Amino acid sequence: MSVNQQAHAGPPYGQPQPGYQGYQQPAYGGQPLPGVPQSQYGAYNGPMPGYQQPVPPQGYFPSLGFPSKGSPVSLNSDTSSLAPNFIGSLRAPPTSGAPPPASGASLPSGHLAYSQFGHGDVQNGIPASAAPMQRPPASQPFLPGSAPTPVSQTSTFQQYGPPPAGVQQLSNHMAGMTLGSATAAAPPPAGLGYGPPTSVPPVSGSFSATASGLYTPYTASQGPPPTSVSQGLPLAQPPFPGQPVSTQRLPAQVPGFAPPPSSTGIGPSSYPPATGAPRPPTMPGPPLPGQTVAGPPASQPNHVSSPPPPSAMSGPHPAPPVSGLHGPPPPTHPPQPGYQMQQNGSFGQVRGPQPNYGGAYPGTPNYGSQPGPPPPPKRLDPDSIPSPIQVIEDDRSNRGSEPFVTGVRGQVPPLVTTNFLVRDQGNASPRYIRCTSYNIPCTSDMAKQSQVPLAAVIKPLATLPPEETLPYLVDHGESGPVRCNRCKAYMCPFMQFIEGGRRFQCCFCSCVTEVPPHYFQHLDHTGKRVDFYDRPELSLGSYEFLATVDYCKNNKFPSPPAFIFMIDVSYNAVKSGLVRLICEELKSLLDYLPREGNMEESAIRVGFVTYNKVLHFYNVKSSLAQPQMMVVSDVADMFVPLLDGFLVNVNESRTVIASLLDQIPEMFADTRETETVFAPVIQAGLEALKAAECAGKLFIFHTSLPIAEAPGKLKNRDDKKLINTDKEKTLFQPQTSFYNNLAKDCVAQGCCVDLFLFPNQYLDVATLGVVTHQTGGSIYKYAYFQLETDQDRFLNDLRRDVQKEVGFDAVMRVRTSTGIRATDFFGAFYMSNTTDVEMAGLDCDKTITVEFKHDDKLSEDSGALLQCALLYTSCAGQRRLRIHNLSLNCCTQLADLYRNCETDTLINYLAKYAYRGVLSSPVKTVRDALINQCAQILACYRKNCASPSSAGQLILPECMKLLPVYLNCVLKSDVLQPGLEVTTDDRAYIRQLVTSMDVAETNVFFYPRLLPLTKADVDSDSLPAAIRNSEERLSKGDIYLLENGLNIFVWVGVNVQQGLIQNLFGVSSFSQISNALSTLPVLENPFSKKVRSIIDMLQVQRSRYMKLIIVKQEDKLEMLFKHFLVEDKSLSGGASYVDFLCHMHKEIRQLLS
Ligand SMILES: [Zn+2]
Repeated sequence: MSVNQQAHAGPPYGQPQPGYQGYQQPAYGGQPLPGVPQSQYGAYNGPMPGYQQPVPPQGYFPSLGFPSKGSPVSLNSDTSSLAPNFIGSLRAPPTSGAPPPASGASLPSGHLAYSQFGHGDVQNGIPASAAPMQRPPASQPFLPGSAPTPVSQTSTFQQYGPPPAGVQQLSNHMAGMTLGSATAAAPPPAGLGYGPPTSVPPVSGSFSATASGLYTPYTASQGPPPTSVSQGLPLAQPPFPGQPVSTQRLPAQVPGFAPPPSSTGIGPSSYPPATGAPRPPTMPGPPLPGQTVAGPPASQPNHVSSPPPPSAMSGPHPAPPVSGLHGPPPPTHPPQPGYQMQQNGSFGQVRGPQPNYGGAYPGTPNYGSQPGPPPPPKRLDPDSIPSPIQVIEDDRSNRGSEPFVTGVRGQVPPLVTTNFLVRDQGNASPRYIRCTSYNIPCTSDMAKQSQVPLAAVIKPLATLPPEETLPYLVDHGESGPVRCNRCKAYMCPFMQFIEGGRRFQCCFCSCVTEVPPHYFQHLDHTGKRVDFYDRPELSLGSYEFLATVDYCKNNKFPSPPAFIFMIDVSYNAVKSGLVRLICEELKSLLDYLPREGNMEESAIRVGFVTYNKVLHFYNVKSSLAQPQMMVVSDVADMFVPLLDGFLVNVNESRTVIASLLDQIPEMFADTRETETVFAPVIQAGLEALKAAECAGKLFIFHTSLPIAEAPGKLKNRDDKKLINTDKEKTLFQPQTSFYNNLAKDCVAQGCCVDLFLFPNQYLDVATLGVVTHQTGGSIYKYAYFQLETDQDRFLNDLRRDVQKEVGFDAVMRVRTSTGIRATDFFGAFYMSNTTDVEMAGLDCDKTITVEFKHDDKLSEDSGALLQCALLYTSCAGQRRLRIHNLSLNCCTQLADLYRNCETDTLINYLAKYAYRGVLSSPVKTVRDALINQCAQILACYRKNCASPSSAGQLILPECMKLLPVYLNCVLKSDVLQPGLEVTTDDRAYIRQLVTSMDVAETNVFFYPRLLPLTKADVDSDSLPAAIRNSEERLSKGDIYLLENGLNIFVWVGVNVQQGLIQNLFGVSSFSQISNALSTLPVLENPFSKKVRSIIDMLQVQRSRYMKLIIVKQEDKLEMLFKHFLVEDKSLSGGASYVDFLCHMHKEIRQLLS
């Protein structure tokens, strides 16, 4: 059936519509898109002068402890003294043995071929001044009339922007575009033949002298005696090597420590009576804006470890720390229902409840942080306990000024909250890999004793700031990358060349492999290949290999991927204006599909489907005058009714697509169909990709629970009464296994599913999200979608999602050196065996957390190595391998472990572990296990590393002094302890989101950033200093901003000056501020500009567009805001930071007694 042509055709394609404002934000169009790499693979310039040698497999920096992470280590200034042997003078002139520069034909034009000739010694690497790398400018012609003039844009790996007009006439090139050229790599050079074997001097030890000069050697006995401080603790002090502990003196156990029954702390959450928590009636949107999120698939076949079994071990005798290794150990004590603060006031300043901020609002229920009739008379001074803000600030000032140079093994990077540049000198950037600890216990027993999980958080396609260089693409021609014969590890800086360079010994399994003739190179007197600096795979931590046909499915190079847009056209979707909005947006957005390098247009083909109870496919073949619709009403056995004309090139079919997008909203304008199907939609997309023999992504825009008769039909099974029961886990599990099987098929085809949900009621995110989660896709949720307030957020998310870098048909494997191995994986993926993480799609925001366990002893000399190899298909259909290497130290002293941990990463792991645990265990069990594991971690430190001190002191390792506060935030999060307005879908959604978050995202999600806007300097670009997340830090006369990666709240105090209100909101009084605003009005005054620029800056930093919510003090909506003041007691029973710290102290004491 042919679609009627509409009289009013849209504007000519490719011409931005007049008045179109959508692409003006910094994240779009000619501007760099956040999250999208800003450079193409530049020529490999080799390491910088003063290059520091990556740590060879043996002997370097043996067990010399590094300063704790807070300590400023000025590597830069000392590199020259460190590496006299390794600077450019050693570089051999190009020889015929080195690979020829890759032929241009073998690489996408955007990739500058890796060349050993393109640089001089002086210009290697990033200039010492940290000046931005010069990148080849990419011409980004923007069609006339477009609003933003593209600034001279740095070339990007994937480029956006409409292609030059001339290319619009290109036709019929799609098939020819497939990577035949990739095979055309230059043949390997004949090679020199084997040179005379030179003795390979292992250089072990050669660094020790220097090293000891550089780093303060640490001996176990040197552990600084914790000083007991009775108040005003050393929180503010910058950590320094000699002082790795924070000492908090908590009051000795007093009888009164037992909790009053009314305050619920850590235990089973008891909900306050509903009356105490009025639902904000004025809330325009979803009950819990921002905090929503959906659910993950339950059965992850790969997830090996099951949640910790509850144990009967309770009572006075704490479990020995060695019980049960990874994974939260069995709870030793039933959680206390609560605990009261010390009565004796022996330390800490006694404070009134809320200086600055009235405890109870007149006329409102006292829902402040101190509910309960008799407020505890005295409080532990919050200023005397470790402050996240202080730690963040200290790290910024200590480590933000120097680049982080990755040439040293086991070096703890700056915190994720610190802005710093990275120079790859042999280890992967922390933007790609972060570890819970950079110094691993040598033995399994030590690891068990400490209970510190050994995990790496890996973001293989992470976006880099423009100043950093993307991994170079290395082309070894038809022979492909050089690998170890036994374990198949890829060539990397830690491989040891022997016998004059004729063989190399694998740093992972020790197997000796012949160097292929074309790869042979002589060694210098230190045993290093003379082409060391010319080859990224020998000198850098991260790089890419062009994959050969052996790495492709069915031994065939892949076709470019396809995007299929699948739009729900049922009643709600049409009525809300959503369908029209999507169609309008796609008209422009399709010109911004990801493309590679300097390709003139995207290789990605597109297709369109609409659906309600039936599916409509569209033929948009370029030769048609009008699009054709084909209806499939038999959804039980989905097939694709057309092959030719379904997936098309945007430029070729421009007119037909435009016509289709104009007509879709009209065609369904009068629909009365309210029911939808869901699984058949995914099946249709999957079948279409199968027929086209390509990978791709489905963008599904869906509004309701799929109750229409069809495979995968669902019923409403929401039941909040299950909360806090043993059946609560079912809320997170899918209601049918149908979707798990579908996900498996999708992964096999490389069909990634991104889901945009617009529910007005429960739609079972836990089930609908299964395929998305297991295919590596993204899920977005806009509850109670309203065009006026939500369209900006949705459109920004959609634009970013469509444009972001993504690899298809991806397989990731993590290899480790002997002694440890990857045992468990967390993230959005599928596993069909125990080692390979499969993702139909992996984008630049997705993170995989990998846990390691010992299977043998490690040695301090050798350290431990990780190699993450990701095989994927680029957006142009090129098959590649991205390799990340990281070397860690190993220790025989627990103190070394504790001074090289990273708490933010630890929390990322623990949250993901717990969020998976709720699929199979009661939430309370999961919470108890978390608390117990952290108590054991801290007790082990106290017992083995800290100096003897009175039991009344809480002593925390410097690196982990924020563990209690962050852990409490995880425990209070909506998945583990739902807030009052949080829906079942919200919890499932959040659970799924967190599973793929990187460390920076979990950090701000669990401990939101709170900025006093009224303290902002309008003349500077900087942000105001953040403050702690507690109500008592708020002043009635100020305006604050709180962001957690999903929401931005702007809180306005009742006493804010009228002038400020006028400047920010354009109204004359507090009472006139509308909390229905979804954006701030654009006003021409410095304060308004400053606040809006801060918000823009934050939006760009996050992977999702955050929802803006205006909160007036004493307004009903304030309850929602207070949910995020995570240092306070929460309405749903979550403990305050102070209370929780006391609780942890008690747990630790019990373990030690
Ligand atoms: Zn090996």
